[in-house]
Formats: sequence, structure tokens, C-alpha cells
Amino acid sequence: MVEENFIKRLIASVKCSVCEQHYEPDNISVLGHQDELWFLRASCSACHTQYLVAAIIKEGKMPELVSDLTEAELDRFQNVGVPTADEMLDMHTYLKDFNGNFAQLFDQRQA
Ligand SMILES: [Zn+2]
Repeated sequence: MVEENFIKRLIASVKCSVCEQHYEPDNISVLGHQDELWFLRASCSACHTQYLVAAIIKEGKMPELVSDLTEAELDRFQNVGVPTADEMLDMHTYLKDFNGNFAQLFDQRQA
């Protein structure tokens, strides 16, 4: 059983990409979760940048954070707030098919 507090502490270990301040648990909200996949939104207490992240929490494994959501996905979440079940399923499928080479993804984006 995954505790919301555990997830918040996990996200709080991440630094804001803009000002490098750590996120504070009070500024992290759980948008929703399905099985081992959690969606969270954090807002930086220093510069108020919004950070949208999906976390994959599997029992007995290191948690994985997926923060490479596209701008379109970000917009949709920011407009709608809480993802619908269909959106969660889409993302779930996407993450299952994705093999987790985040470094390569980030390199491509910056190129
Ligand atoms: Zn910040």
C-alpha cells in the first residue's frame, strides 16, 4: 500500500528546474493515481514554477519519476486539473511501452 506521504517526500527530494529550490511537501498535490502510477503537481515555493510529474511506484523496487510530459499534456492537466480515467490509462500504456531511457529523451529535446 503506497502512502501519499511517501510520494510527497519523494517529490520533495527533487529540485526546481528553474531556481534549484527543493519542493516542499505542502506544495505537492496528488492529482490522482491508478495502480502503481501516480500523477503529482508540485509548485516551487520560491519561484512558483509548476512541475508536473508521473511517478511509478512498484513494491520492492526503486520508484521511477517521469517528468518528461509534453507541453500539450501539461496544458491539458493545467486546464482540466485532475486527469480523467481515460487519460490515466493512455499514460499508463505509454509508460509501459516506454523503456525508460530518459537521458536519451532529454538529449533529443535539447538538440
Ligand atoms: Zn523554483
